[in-house]
This record gives sequence, structure tokens and C-alpha cells, in this order.
Amino acid sequence: MSDCIFCKIANGEIPSTKVYENEDVVAFKDLNPQAPIHILVIPKKHYNNVLDVEENDSIISKIYYAINKIAKQEGFDKEGFRVINNCGENAGQTVMHMHFHIIAGKKLGEGIV
Ligand code: 5GP
Ligand code: ZN
Repeated sequence: MSDCIFCKIANGEIPSTKVYENEDVVAFKDLNPQAPIHILVIPKKHYNNVLDVEENDSIISKIYYAINKIAKQEGFDKEGFRVINNCGENAGQTVMHMHFHIIAGKKLGEGIV
């Protein structure tokens, strides 16, 4: 997708603070962090959101395996963290390239997220 900011982050056209990368996935710090640790995990391939993922596509397990690696690498695996995926308008998805927020580094509330 030529006009997608997260495609541009994935291919290096737009700079970001990357914390993890492999063949399929890249993770970088959110520009507007909502917690001491706020990382976005994205597939390098463009999907608008989870509604584009088909049954036998392994991208979601690859993303969650990356989250596992990032939690251990960044050292918040033991204290815990939250993963958030906004899908569509009512969820407030603002960037239409599938992404998973990792929120960590403080005690998170027991609210909806
Ligand atoms: P959404 O609301 O779509 O779930 O989350 C989009 C997230 O992307 C927001 O938390 C926002 O701060 C982040 N974001 C938007 N543009 C950029 C950017 O150019 N670079 C980085 N690192 N984060 C961005
Ligand atoms: Zn994209």
C-alpha cells in the first residue's frame, strides 16, 4: 500500500524506533505512548485489520510469538502487560494497517482494556 504510514515504517521509508524485527513482523515504539512501555507490533505485509486475515494464514501466531520474544527481550514478561488490537471505527482504529499495541511498565486498571 503506497500511502500507508505503517507500510512505510515497515520498509524504512518513515523512521521509527524499532525494538524487534524478523522476516514477517516489525515492532516499534508508539509515537504517542499511553504507558511507560507502548510498542506497536505489525505485519510487514499490509492487512487493513484482522478482518483481512484468512483461516490458514499464520500471521496472527507470528505476531503473538513476536510479542512473546519482545516481552522477554524488553524485560516486562514477569510483571505482565496488555495487548490491544483496535479493529474498525467503533474501536477507534486510526491507522488502517493491522497493529497490536503492547502496553506495559505500570499497573494497568481492571477496566475494559
Ligand atoms: P490505533 O488507534 O489505530 O489503534 O493506533 C494507532 C497508533 O499508531 C496510535 O497509538 C498512534 O500514536 C500511533 N502512530 C500513528 N502514527 C505513527 C507514526 O508515524 N509512528 C509511530 N511510531 N506511531 C504512530
Ligand atoms: Zn500498510
